[in-house]
Amino acid sequence: MHNLIKMLPDAIANQIAAGEVVQRPASVVKELMENSIDAGASSVQLIVKEAGKVNIQVIDDGKGMSPQDALMCFERHATSKISKAEDLFAIHTMGFRGEALASIASVAQVELKTKREEDELGSLLRMEASVLKANEQVAAPKGTSILVKNLFYNIPARRNFLKSNPVEMRHILDEFQRIALANPEIKFSLIQNEQETYALPVEKLGKRIVDLFGKTYREQLAACEENTNYVSIKGYVGRPEYAKKTRGEQFFFVNNRFIKSSYLHHAVMSAYERLVPEGSFPFYVLFLTLDPAHIDINVHPTKTEIKFDDERSIYAILQAAIRKTLSLNHLIPSLDFDA
Ligand code: ADP
Ligand code: MG
Repeated sequence: MHNLIKMLPDAIANQIAAGEVVQRPASVVKELMENSIDAGASSVQLIVKEAGKVNIQVIDDGKGMSPQDALMCFERHATSKISKAEDLFAIHTMGFRGEALASIASVAQVELKTKREEDELGSLLRMEASVLKANEQVAAPKGTSILVKNLFYNIPARRNFLKSNPVEMRHILDEFQRIALANPEIKFSLIQNEQETYALPVEKLGKRIVDLFGKTYREQLAACEENTNYVSIKGYVGRPEYAKKTRGEQFFFVNNRFIKSSYLHHAVMSAYERLVPEGSFPFYVLFLTLDPAHIDINVHPTKTEIKFDDERSIYAILQAAIRKTLSLNHLIPSLDFDA
């Protein structure tokens, strides 16, 4: 009898993990931009060519990496963000899995340039399908630039599976918008096929919303704020008469992370009951902040789902907060105040 089980080589293990983490160019955009946020950047630039199929580059002015870390960052399960099991219950960063760069580097050609403030020279590394092709010391500004070329070049089946440029670009814009909304104190720019399509200065949330969605949003926003022991809520909701027939402008962030939740969406919609017609959706950007011990974001690698330990409280608090905002802004016809 001989044994049949072997450990998979790293490059294959990474490619398998990439199936989870890297679905399309927009997933790369999300991971790279989140890393820039985690690195304390005050300015983040996203450059894409051909909807990210040819080039995706993110340049930040964050803390950069040491030459050793620049090598380590492409290893699977390599992270500077958590180190022990307890940390999973107190996550304060966007990343923590240590999978993104390893996954991306297994399905693309990657060029990393990075330098810390204190280092004379920076590091320039080239990776192709998990293989290190070059590692040099070079002059570089403080911060990190990661260029991801020809995504899925080594997996034709997945490359062919990518959608048209407008569809892939829409997904990239969604990620860009979410991250820009969650970080108005950071400067962002987006360059698409050599053209700058967004240049967002440091600003407050209200102004960031207007810069992203257009001037008409200035009149339609009502500020929402509520603080309880369990959760604090902050953000803007749209006036009911501006509700649209299409979805896509409803945003929840929990501890600054974009999440999708039909449950929370329902709480908001219930507050708008009878104010918007059936099948119309009001605009909202809502930030929920609570002790990380009350949530579990470790549900799926793309991390847009979340579990709360007390869903019912969140629902009730959120619904009440929106109701209060709408009535403070006289958006709810009040029948019982005519005395
Ligand atoms: P995670 O973000 O889950 O830790 P990643 O694979 O995205 O995993 O990144 C691995 C590590 O590389 C990070 O923990 C961080 O230390 C480093 N890193 C990645 N991107 C940057 C960046 N833009 N600036 C500084 N360090 C970075
Ligand atoms: Mg990361």
